Amino acid sequence: MLRPFEIHEPTSIAEASRLLADHGEDAAVYAGGTELILVMKEGLAHFRHLVDIKTIPGLETIAYDGAVLRLGALATHRAIERSAVVGRHAPLLASVASQVANPRVRNVGTLGGNLCFAEPHSDLGTLCVAWDAVIVLARDGEERSVPADRFFTGVLETVREPDEVLVRVELRPFGPGTGGAYQRFAMHERPTAGVAAVVATRGGVIQHGRIAIGSVGPMPVRASEAEAMLAGAPLRDEALREAAKAVGRHAEVMDDLYGSAAYKRHVLTVLAARALREAVACAREEDA
Ligand SMILES: Cc1cc2nc3c(=O)[nH]c(=O)nc-3n(C[C@H](O)[C@H](O)[C@H](O)COP(=O)(O)OP(=O)(O)OC[C@H]3O[C@@H](n4cnc5c(N)ncnc54)[C@H](O)[C@@H]3O)c2cc1C
Repeated sequence: MLRPFEIHEPTSIAEASRLLADHGEDAAVYAGGTELILVMKEGLAHFRHLVDIKTIPGLETIAYDGAVLRLGALATHRAIERSAVVGRHAPLLASVASQVANPRVRNVGTLGGNLCFAEPHSDLGTLCVAWDAVIVLARDGEERSVPADRFFTGVLETVREPDEVLVRVELRPFGPGTGGAYQRFAMHERPTAGVAAVVATRGGVIQHGRIAIGSVGPMPVRASEAEAMLAGAPLRDEALREAAKAVGRHAEVMDDLYGSAAYKRHVLTVLAARALREAVACAREEDA
């Protein structure tokens, strides 16, 4: 049962950040509430002050300026899936957003809430890490940009300071010769394992590949051994298969209700091979 709380409705980031600072551990940012209200209902956490950021204008904006795609923290999964701008410049993101959870959660759950909650079984965190997304945090009068692969620090933990609000995520669309893909396996609503790959190619050679694995450990991480194998490798299926095996072999995975570590290693290897093949196929299309 929900215990009483007060809702604050700031109209600026500065005001939200001051409220968070003033109320300290008694306060939480309230976006879509799909995670926050659930944990409060379950009695797993209680905040006497909810800072509702939906009253701050512009935080749901999605825009492309010719180089960078900016997704406001309050962009819902549904809005991202349906955005014409995302569809044109980052169709992979639209496709991943469409696979999150269920229609109820997608309609109200936000990108910022997904990343800040840092629940390990997330699709968007994994994609952001492989894509080299930049996460922009703001407090009273200042902003700082954090690369996605340095944002997550553990289960439900990030580098965000208690008085900071995630305001937007920035992505650069893939250039010519670069392709990306995301593969997930889910037995329940949340993913059991996910692999995102972004591969840059030129003249039949892989220049570099970025691979992120998620949902199998405390947070999404880069698969650096496999990435090293891809750099300079010929565009042949054998190279992709060997890199995929390295993803499974070196991944830090934990046993949990979603499956054993050995099982997840196997799933990761399969997903990585699929993601790499699909990313390479996209890279070839982009190059054509
Ligand atoms: C049944 C279910 C299934 C799901 N399945 C998937 C799935 O398949 N894949 C997947 O990726 N995710 C999945 N999710 C997670 C879902 O994506 C998140 O619940 C949603 O995006 C959270 O957004 P929200 O706006 O509701 O966050 P809220 O619940 O409002 O907030 C979540 C947390 O983040 C903090 N917060 C929110 N926004 C900000 C901000 N801008 N700045 C600072 N702090 C902030 C809040 O204080 C809170 O601690 C699932 C969730 C549920 C409930």
